Amino acid sequence: MKEIKFIECDIRCVNVPLREPIIAHIGTFKKWPYLCLDLKTDSEIVGKSYIGPYLVEQLASITQCIKALSEKFKDRIIEPTQFYKEGEKAISLLGYKGIGLYALASLDIAFWDAHSKASGSPLAIHLGGSLKPLKTYNSRGLWLKPINELAKEAKILRKEGDFNALKLRIGRETANQDIQAFKEVKRGAGDDIQVLTDFNQCYTLSQAMTRMRLLDDVGFEWFEEPIVYNDLIGNAKLTQMIYTPITIGENFHGPKDLKDALISNACDLIMPDLMRIGGVSGWLQSAAIASSFNVEFSSHLFPEVSAHLMSVTQTANWVEWTDWANPIIKKPYEIKDGHIIIPNVPGVGLDWNEDILEKYAVNINA
Ligand SMILES: [Mg+2]
Repeated sequence: MKEIKFIECDIRCVNVPLREPIIAHIGTFKKWPYLCLDLKTDSEIVGKSYIGPYLVEQLASITQCIKALSEKFKDRIIEPTQFYKEGEKAISLLGYKGIGLYALASLDIAFWDAHSKASGSPLAIHLGGSLKPLKTYNSRGLWLKPINELAKEAKILRKEGDFNALKLRIGRETANQDIQAFKEVKRGAGDDIQVLTDFNQCYTLSQAMTRMRLLDDVGFEWFEEPIVYNDLIGNAKLTQMIYTPITIGENFHGPKDLKDALISNACDLIMPDLMRIGGVSGWLQSAAIASSFNVEFSSHLFPEVSAHLMSVTQTANWVEWTDWANPIIKKPYEIKDGHIIIPNVPGVGLDWNEDILEKYAVNINA
């Protein structure tokens, strides 16, 4: 494998309109911000990554953070694991969570992309995995919209990739409305569709206990984030009390958060987020921890890199699929028979749709 040196990074930020608005307990979103990074090397190889840090107004601060952090690695031969270790140390004075970690993750993903391109292999193969298609569910819809719209939407969502599972957002005004929503999804998509659910942290512990007891035998595949994500004691109480599996993890900031949650028995299942877990390196550590606890590991957003990583995650469960980032990607990953297909090209296989990057550019220098 050829050795390549990191030269500099080029960062572009966008705020891309969503096909349909996100209407959730955490807020309503019509656009989604992304930060796209091109990592230049002393060869023709360019490492690429994107993160979606939720807050358009913080794109500038994260960009600055990436630029400052990247100085450490300039003119050095790319070694992603060593760079991550040094990067973690470098951000420790900012704290191991938040924008320092997002900056480290965006660099880490791009370093791994460049490193696997230098080996001529897809990232999954480079890490010791395969290109076997991975089971995925459609998570891009079924928000807190009128119940009578859900059946029609569920039917469309299933057909988009012959999905076997969909994500439904619940925590409506009454338990009966949540049950009705479940029935409508089944009516539209078919009785064999698996329904994963997300409360988006809408309850206090006592509210969650009441609601989840009423929904426990409905047939949901999992309950996601019923209460605030970092209340591990509360989540552990619910996990012990409720029969339906409980999942948390999109808000784990780094592998240590994941370890703390598992030590606390705060959930049955986990679903880390590529950006918040610390990119590829943070994920690899986390996958090892999850495996030692024998806990099933699903992904949150970022379906492309997550698919590669699920291939080397021993307890891999579901890949979450949404199309939110598709406009910025030249060739979005294909979904077939409810599975995501990893392209057989070196690295992650992401190229930018330059027109969209220009059209929805956010001026971070303003
Ligand atoms: Mg969620």
